Parts: sequence; structure tokens; C-alpha cells
Amino acid sequence: MTIFKRPSLKFASKRKREMPEGLWTKCPECGEMIHHLALEQNLRVCSPCGYHFSFSARDRVANLVDEGSFVETQASLESIDVLKFKGVAAYEERLRSYQKKTGEKDAVVTGNATIEGRPFGLAVMDFQFLGGSMASVVGEKITSIIEASTQAEQPVVIVAASGGARMYEGVFSLMQMAKTSGALARHAAAKLPFVSVLTNPTMGGVTASFATLGDVILAEPKSMIGFAGPRVIREIAHQELPPGFQTAEFLLEHGLIDAIVHRAQLRPRLAMIFDHLVFH
Ligand SMILES: [Zn+2]
Repeated sequence: MTIFKRPSLKFASKRKREMPEGLWTKCPECGEMIHHLALEQNLRVCSPCGYHFSFSARDRVANLVDEGSFVETQASLESIDVLKFKGVAAYEERLRSYQKKTGEKDAVVTGNATIEGRPFGLAVMDFQFLGGSMASVVGEKITSIIEASTQAEQPVVIVAASGGARMYEGVFSLMQMAKTSGALARHAAAKLPFVSVLTNPTMGGVTASFATLGDVILAEPKSMIGFAGPRVIREIAHQELPPGFQTAEFLLEHGLIDAIVHRAQLRPRLAMIFDHLVFH
């Protein structure tokens, strides 16, 4: 005997048609369903819990610099498949598909700009492009904007978002760690500041090179920052990791970064740092 009648599915299917896919995003932190317009208006930060979703390099540039001040450098630089990588997918194919998906040539956007009239060099990594992986083009563009900033006697800011080195380029990817670090050492020798901004996630060779060399190191809330991931460390160290391990909050508590800054506060914070370190 049926006690409850099965509900009609008519209403459910109608509702489904009224909610096209891709309009709503579920916050991985608090589970809130957020409409994409609300998310864009709030700089891709969840209002109830403050979770910072990934931000494209272009959106980041627009959010940080004085309107119309950004002059992009090396915009047409593209990677080549120097190792003729053979894998699940050919490197060239992957590059083309990510270029189409993101509208970027590679995983970093660089240029000169101003914040409240103060000139500086800027590099912003894009996690949507092959996981923000560091390859020859990424290293070359970052090195060039550092060198141009040293030449122009201006500060440089790098916003990191990366899973680490790009396996398709092997040792050519790894040598970018030394190359970017060398350029930063020369920038520091000229007594010019470098501000590093770590976003979710900043891992591998990027953490192990330029990202942690900042005179001031800032991070977005709850960003995962580390070298190897927690699973790998757990397996190697054979021990449980402390709660919050590899989060920005954990690193701040242990003195590895200087401040955690909400995305909306990053621009005024950088202006303040420039004031203290450069402009008097
Ligand atoms: Zn949330």
C-alpha cells in the first residue's frame, strides 16, 4: 500500500530548464550557491564566507592598476614544444586548446602600470592556463619585467598562481627558477623592492623560486601555498600533518609571509607599501 504519493516531476524539470548550467557556482568552503553575476561583482569572492575563487590574469590586472595605465609587454610570446613531448596529449595540442579556452598565449601576463599614479612592473599568473605552470615563456616574461623594472628604477609586483613547473618542458622549465631568482637578486642589489602576492594555489617551483623572495610577501586568504602537496609530504614523512598545514593562515602564524590581504584590499595595500618603500 502506498502511503505517500510520488511527487510529480513536472515542476522539477521545469525548474531545471529555468536554471541554465554554468550560471551558478557552489562555494567549496561553505556550500553557498552563488550566481555568476554576484560572483563577478564581488571580485570572485564568496560573500558569506570570504572564499577567494581563482581570478583570471586580466581581471586581476583590471582590479589592481589605474584604469588605462597598463601597457602589456611581450604579449605575443608563445611556447614551443622544444622536447617534442610524447604523452597522453601532445604539448602543442594542449597549448592551442588552453590558448583558445583562456584567450591568453601562456600562463602569465606582464606589463608596466601605475597604482594611484605610482609606476611599477607587474606580472600576473593565470591558473586557468595549464594550471599556471612555469615554462620557458612564463620565466622569460617574468624575468624581462623584473629587468625592465630594475632599469626603470621602479618596484615590481608578481601575483603567483601555479601548480609548479610545466612537465612538458622538463629542465627548460626548471631553469626558470634560477633565471627569475637571478633577476630578482639584481633588482634587490639596485635597492628596489619586490612585492610577492601568493594566491590559491602557489606550489612547486614557483614557491621554491621568485614567489617566496619578496621583500614583502602577501597572500590571499586560505590560499594553499607549499612545495609538494600534503599527500606527498605525508607519504615521505610518515606522519600526520598539523591542521591548516600549507594554508596562508598557517604560513602567517609561522612567519613565512607578512600579511593576508583580502582581494578588494590588495590595491590600497600595494599603494601603501610603495609609499613606504619607494616614494617619499
Ligand atoms: Zn563560501
